[in-house]
Amino acid sequence: MDQIIHHLKNSNNVLLASHINPDGDAIASLLSMGILLDTLNKQTTVYNQSPIPSRHRFLPSVQRIVQNVNSGNYYDTAIILDCGDLQRIGKAAVTVNRIPVVINIDHHITNTRFGDFQLIDTSACATVEIIYRLFKKMDVPINLSAATSIYTGILTDTGSFRFSNTNRAAFEICAEMAALGVDPYYAAKHIYGTYSLGQLKLINLAIESIEISQNGKLSLMTLTQSMLYETGTLPEDINGLISYIKNIENIKLAVLIQEQMDGKEKSTQPQRGQRFHVSLRSDETVDVAAIAASFGGGGHPRAAGFSIESKVVDLKKRIFSLAETL
Ligand code: 5GP
Ligand code: MN
Repeated sequence: MDQIIHHLKNSNNVLLASHINPDGDAIASLLSMGILLDTLNKQTTVYNQSPIPSRHRFLPSVQRIVQNVNSGNYYDTAIILDCGDLQRIGKAAVTVNRIPVVINIDHHITNTRFGDFQLIDTSACATVEIIYRLFKKMDVPINLSAATSIYTGILTDTGSFRFSNTNRAAFEICAEMAALGVDPYYAAKHIYGTYSLGQLKLINLAIESIEISQNGKLSLMTLTQSMLYETGTLPEDINGLISYIKNIENIKLAVLIQEQMDGKEKSTQPQRGQRFHVSLRSDETVDVAAIAASFGGGGHPRAAGFSIESKVVDLKKRIFSLAETL
């Protein structure tokens, strides 16, 4: 950490990036780290390849997140947040490879330890827990904007203090952020408060898609682009649906297959792609980080994922064959 702090103090132009399809922690890490660098009077580009889901747009200074970066030689430092591997940031990975110093701040067990400096703590409940420690170590005051992001990163990455990564620090830091002025009701209202009729209809289609393995230990949910099209919803609306199949009794491994858009970022027509994102969740007996890694992805022991090109029937076959090992 000392080496990283030393380097941060000497940097001038910094690129901050986190993973595509960002969750609360990925967004909160960008924003809180951006504030820390503002305090040090650094020039920053705060980047994420994907649009920011609407439930996270209440976060202070969220509008500074951009979807484009300058050329690699513009920056002296890149800080990659909440990413197990560099490719997780998406297209900008090419740019980052040209930046002289790359700092990797993360809490995923499958982190490949890319970059020149690493600040990886797999016991941290969220990447913002590590950023909180950086604020403390550097004696930088946490303003209300940074506190709101740190609180939200922990709230979302721990599933509101329910997931197995919920640690003592989660409560302690959130209590401190509340003391600094964060309103838990305000944050919860934005994150969990409302849903559209389309989102409710998507839940219906998602539930209809559920398949259970013969031994009753594996649950599978499949979401297609046409389901999103039909209900007028966005990929971000899929977030959280896996809980329905994870919490079915006796299930040890829950799998959500999500058909990806074929190439283009946006389309008004339903598309049939052969690329899928697969999310994995488990109880304490199954290590899904290892399963995801065997498919070229990664994550945490109880929550992981990977992307794959395959025919859906073949993918389902491979997934159901996992049930026999449970
Ligand atoms: P989700 O299932 O919500 O996409 O992801 C669950 C966890 O697995 C997250 O911590 C996420 O960062 C990680 N993860 C998901 N997909 C990938 C992937 O393709 N590669 C890696 N390395 N990690 C992933
Ligand atoms: Mn995280």
